[in-house]
Amino acid sequence: MTVLVTGGAGYIGSHMVWKLLDRNEQVVVIDDLSTGHAWAVPDGVAFVHADVADKSALDRIFSEHQIDAVFHFAGAIIVPESVEFPLKYYRENASKTGALIDHAIERRIAHFIYSSSAAVYGAPGMDPVTEAAPCAPESPYGTSKLVTEWMLRDVAAANPAFRYAALRYFNVAGADPDMRSGQSSRVSTHLIKIAAEAAVGKRDGVSIFGDDFPTPDGTCVRDYIHVSDLVEAHYQALVHLRAGGPSIIANCGYGSGYSVRQVIEAVKAVSGVDFEAIIGPRRPGDAAMIVADSTLARTVLNWSPQLDDLETIIRHALEWERRLAEQGPKTPSDQDSQVCPEN
Ligand code: UDP
Repeated sequence: MTVLVTGGAGYIGSHMVWKLLDRNEQVVVIDDLSTGHAWAVPDGVAFVHADVADKSALDRIFSEHQIDAVFHFAGAIIVPESVEFPLKYYRENASKTGALIDHAIERRIAHFIYSSSAAVYGAPGMDPVTEAAPCAPESPYGTSKLVTEWMLRDVAAANPAFRYAALRYFNVAGADPDMRSGQSSRVSTHLIKIAAEAAVGKRDGVSIFGDDFPTPDGTCVRDYIHVSDLVEAHYQALVHLRAGGPSIIANCGYGSGYSVRQVIEAVKAVSGVDFEAIIGPRRPGDAAMIVADSTLARTVLNWSPQLDDLETIIRHALEWERRLAEQGPKTPSDQDSQVCPEN
């Protein structure tokens, strides 16, 4: 059987592709390259350059390959952008996923693994937060993820042969320990990526978005999870569904929180570079603290994280950032030269 990975040219999707290859799975990638890079798809993996809602591309993929599972990573992820352009987020994350699910049902695909987000909780009144916490997203991004979870729930109820796992990501960071992939986004908004860029001299410093939150040092606390552990949770979700396990919604985080200041200090310590960190205003929609209770993933999915260590996450993020800096920026024409309809 073959696994379809949407967004497989992106940060998390490309790590998933490597994980699946490591487990001897057959993989097809579909990606529109709006934020991903063709060079991030490993050589020899079938790659279709198309939108996830492109019916003819999906028809071709489902006809040419024996797909039994879809990993759906493609989507828009910038929270402040979602506040400014909400309809883009409903379209990219909710409507297009609806079209993809529709195709999956039509083709009798049994397993669907979805990239959800801790953003569905908003500002949870629970620490750590379990999946039973009420969902009250504070951004259109978070709402688009929640709406999609609801679509999956309702479609699975109407189609008993279709089962899904929605994994709620906490703060994903780091890079493949073997440096086969890493975070290569042209626009960075995530703290560890931004601090790593500052450490390698790609930017002058880091702004701390508010230091007056009700947390021990006044800066926001988050649960940072290594991307390789995250994709392992996805693989375990596939194993669970293939073994006949029921649909599941599960948090993916470690259960330990670090403040923005702690992360910045750790990046300075690991890199040995003392870059500037300036206190700025709060960013709209930031919750003071959000840390995962991941009991469900650990017990039901048998997820056993191997890289639960902030220093390791930062070391891998820095190593990848140094490599990107040495190679110089990859231009759009670099990507285009590597794109073919399917290779
Ligand atoms: N943050 C910051 N400066 C930055 C980027 C992020 O202070 O340049 C803070 C942000 O306000 C949040 C935390 O770092 O409290 C994590 O933000 P990120 O965007 O990485 O992930 P989020 O938790 O928003 O998904």
